Amino acid sequence: ENLDKGLEKSKASFFDKMSKAVAGKAKVDEEVLDDLENVLISSDVGVGTTIKIIKAIEERVARDKYLGTDELNLILREEIAALLSKTNSGDATDFSLPNDKRPYVIMVVGVNGVGKTTTIGKLAYHFKKSGHKVVLGAADTFRAAAIDQLQVWADRTGVPIIKQKMGSDPASVAFDTVQSAVKMNADVVLIDTAGRLHNKVNLMKELTKVKMVMQKTIPDAPHEVLLVLDGSTGQNAFEQAKQFTAATEVTSLAVTKLDGTAKGGVVIGISDQFQIPVKYIGVGEGLEDLQVFNKYEFVDSFFK
Ligand code: GDP
Repeated sequence: ENLDKGLEKSKASFFDKMSKAVAGKAKVDEEVLDDLENVLISSDVGVGTTIKIIKAIEERVARDKYLGTDELNLILREEIAALLSKTNSGDATDFSLPNDKRPYVIMVVGVNGVGKTTTIGKLAYHFKKSGHKVVLGAADTFRAAAIDQLQVWADRTGVPIIKQKMGSDPASVAFDTVQSAVKMNADVVLIDTAGRLHNKVNLMKELTKVKMVMQKTIPDAPHEVLLVLDGSTGQNAFEQAKQFTAATEVTSLAVTKLDGTAKGGVVIGISDQFQIPVKYIGVGEGLEDLQVFNKYEFVDSFFK
């Protein structure tokens, strides 16, 4: 129900456009497919993924000879679910962690403004609520505000934070955080990192160094590299995914601000294009407004 609310705008916009695309037409023809292509692109599904979806529908039209526009929704839904299935298991329903990795280390990456700090705060809240002991690491030492903001979330959620002063070595903060987490018997560590994209080589170096220094204490850390993307920025989100996946091995995605956009299609496109699972979606500014991504619920909320 929360998800429906969070995605209201995307859903309304998608169906408005869809119904215009098929208005007055009984069967799926070239023109309907062209219009559908525009609907998908304008919902930020992305060009590559849109072409895949259109092709799949064309194949069905060719095979079945006739496809009624009334069936189009059902088929789109199937095709999108199938695309998402390749990267998203879809069975995640809660904020649980793998049992065999303690502490479980999540390195969080993304550019400023996308909702990285907020997402870390929400994750801290949910993990704590699920009974896990959480530690935050303020390894975005480039901006004083980043450290202060993370401190605010640490206070708000009652979770310890490891930090140093602005300008200190991010790797040193990450090292301290992991060491403290082991000492405290923590279950999960969330490491905030700086995301300055204008200097790609430095970004890569910094993230690599942060990773390596954590491995001195926990050889297989980080267990997860979570890229946070702002779902309302469309093509920017695609571009950021491209740059971060080139700089480090991203293992999961959090797509934020889906409550404020009519373009929820970005979730489908990015997951497909980069073959990375979407793990969390942000649907508001509050602590509760983070959801574990479930592809079935997502597709249902779009096509209900
Ligand atoms: P950071 O610079 O990436 O750490 O970004 P912040 O976490 O400071 O977030 C930037 C702004 O986006 C803040 O005003 C947040 O409240 C807002 N924000 C973050 N996530 C969401 C979301 O899922 N929905 C909405 N509507 N706002 C969000």
